[in-house]
Amino acid sequence: MDTVFERALVTGGAGFVGSHLCESLLAAGSAVVAVDNFATSDAAAVAHLLERPDFQLARQDVTAPMTVPGPFDVVFHLASAASPRDYFRLPLETLRAGSHGTEGALDIAERDGARFVLASTSEVYGDPGEHPQPEDYWGNVNPIGPRSVYDEAKRYAEALTSAMRRERGVNTGIARIFNTYGPRMRADDGRMIPAFIGQALRGVPLTVTGSGRQTRSLCYVDDTVRGLVALAHSGVPGPVNLGNPHELTVLRIAQEILAITGSPSRIEHIEAAVDDPARRCPDISLARRELGWAPQVPMDEGLSRTVAWFARTLGSAPPAP
Ligand code: NAD
Ligand code: UDP
Repeated sequence: MDTVFERALVTGGAGFVGSHLCESLLAAGSAVVAVDNFATSDAAAVAHLLERPDFQLARQDVTAPMTVPGPFDVVFHLASAASPRDYFRLPLETLRAGSHGTEGALDIAERDGARFVLASTSEVYGDPGEHPQPEDYWGNVNPIGPRSVYDEAKRYAEALTSAMRRERGVNTGIARIFNTYGPRMRADDGRMIPAFIGQALRGVPLTVTGSGRQTRSLCYVDDTVRGLVALAHSGVPGPVNLGNPHELTVLRIAQEILAITGSPSRIEHIEAAVDDPARRCPDISLARRELGWAPQVPMDEGLSRTVAWFARTLGSAPPAP
């Protein structure tokens, strides 16, 4: 069994993935400090943790020096806008979270001799020319398009993390997270899953961009969090893909959500998104081999749990049985 981290720092800890990660670390017996400036969240996702003596939420911007009390034995750096709608709205902040923010989080890991885990992304592959994407594929990113503020910030964050490992001996691990979904996504964050579920529950058209033939591979948040924790407990530098190789077209995902909700909504095709990756699917051989990790939650189960959560949160009728 893995040893328990005594004290974990989670930047972006009030966000969607961060809140689930904090919960998982607390359940394993760690004390957790979450740092967040609520740029793309509020305290709602961690409200149920606030009374715990082993949990602390600090309102801080990671692009300024962090003043959280250490020492930590693990630092998870998740702070960054993650949904396209958010990073289009916060382009400079997103670049800074990936650059200055990553540097600040790495400095804390170096100071404390902590394990450092970077939440990178499949977006480093851009619109991929290889399929599925292995970690040694270098990517196809438009460096000046609207998505570049996110993609290039994460690519820089990976470069910085790798240099800190090489030059300063920081114990780093890079996770390339593929599309993750689940309860506590913001209903209005513009990403496909909350958008489609919200539309289905309201009975309005599901807005599929372009032809809907572009693909994504959806990983349930519990699986992603288990992968991040496994990476933290390993000495693996990565990058390591964390994602579910079950690849579907966006149109098919919209149809699945209609089926699960029993919604009368129709599908409406809207304008294609700029630089939208045409295909995305992780090769997870490395995670299987090095971390003994693979996703466990099938999509119909993950989507049903997510739909039930949104139905409760939005006060909609529960999905049809
Ligand atoms: P999210 O927007 O729900 O959470 C991000 C959190 O970071 C928010 O609470 C936000 O307020 C906080 N934050 C942003 N800038 C900050 C700053 N300067 N200082 C302090 N806090 C800041 O997004 P998420 O989906 O939970 O993503 C979390 C991390 O995982 C991100 O780094 C993202 O790039 C990465 N990731 C997520 C996915 C996914 O599908 N959810 C996929 C790939 C990578
Ligand atoms: N998408 C869509 N309708 C929406 C939101 C997104 O069809 O209302 C598409 C989007 O263009 C992309 C896919 O769904 O092809 C996944 O988008 P998301 O924003 O969830 O994640 P990302 O593009 O970062 O993979």
